[in-house]
Amino acid sequence: SISFLNGDYMPLEEARISPLDRGFLFGDGIYEVIPYYKGKSVGLMPHIERMINGLAAIEIKCTKTADEWKELLDDLVARNESMGDNLGVYVHVSRGADVKRYHPYPEGVEPTVFCFCFNIKDPEPVDRTKVTQYSLVSTEDLRWQRCHIKSTALLGNVIHFQEGYSSGADEALLYNANGELTEGSSCNAFIVKDGIIATPIQDNQILPGITRRIILDSLKADGSLQVEERTITMDEVRDADEIWITSSSKEIAPVTKLDGKPVGDGSVGEIWEKAFAIYTASKYDF
Ligand code: PMP
Repeated sequence: SISFLNGDYMPLEEARISPLDRGFLFGDGIYEVIPYYKGKSVGLMPHIERMINGLAAIEIKCTKTADEWKELLDDLVARNESMGDNLGVYVHVSRGADVKRYHPYPEGVEPTVFCFCFNIKDPEPVDRTKVTQYSLVSTEDLRWQRCHIKSTALLGNVIHFQEGYSSGADEALLYNANGELTEGSSCNAFIVKDGIIATPIQDNQILPGITRRIILDSLKADGSLQVEERTITMDEVRDADEIWITSSSKEIAPVTKLDGKPVGDGSVGEIWEKAFAIYTASKYDF
């Protein structure tokens, strides 16, 4: 596949960066993953805006405008058309390579910009009897207190993901020291109780997920389902009729098992199907 590195296009296997790159040494960078289905992106501008905000938050001076990013990413996807219908674009901007390893932000160093495409799965069917079901384990969220920044330093997330993976689950569902739901190790989380959908508020404990945003906005515009952003306790999660996890690659994935116990009646919920239909009908508008 064709990747982009610092202004040049090249085969992915040929892309090279310095071992002094601060992305490599410190995880000092910001990243994004944007889904494209048959060349059409979902949430491209919100993803770009989140990345620009993240770069500003950690003072990485990347001068590309939102429109320039859009042009670059659409162009990269077009160049990789032969890879398949469903592509994720990984975008990574690190603080760049200095002449030595030291902590302060260096002056006059060009950020490293690296993008490549990878295959993602077909969208799931809007059918509660056919969709892939997820099994989660819950664990205390021991990441840092800046989870709203989409940092390339993902060790905290990777450790939590592995906890789920090594116990045979698909994801780890995280809660804070007060027993309140935060998110998954690589996704946001929603619950449904008595027909009402809820998701944790957007603060420093979670990534402001673009899929989460598209769900909230499309459900509000549709108006047929009730949805709330609020604090959610793990007691509520364990008592929920439905649990969903959401991300750019999973879209809205129904969870039917938590810590080895069935969620609700153990089947995929009706509200999931309604919400996923609404999301699917409007996802390309974002
Ligand atoms: N939270 C975390 C920790 C994530 O890594 C991700 C996806 N990478 C998400 C939430 C979901 O974000 P999005 O919907 O923008 O993919």
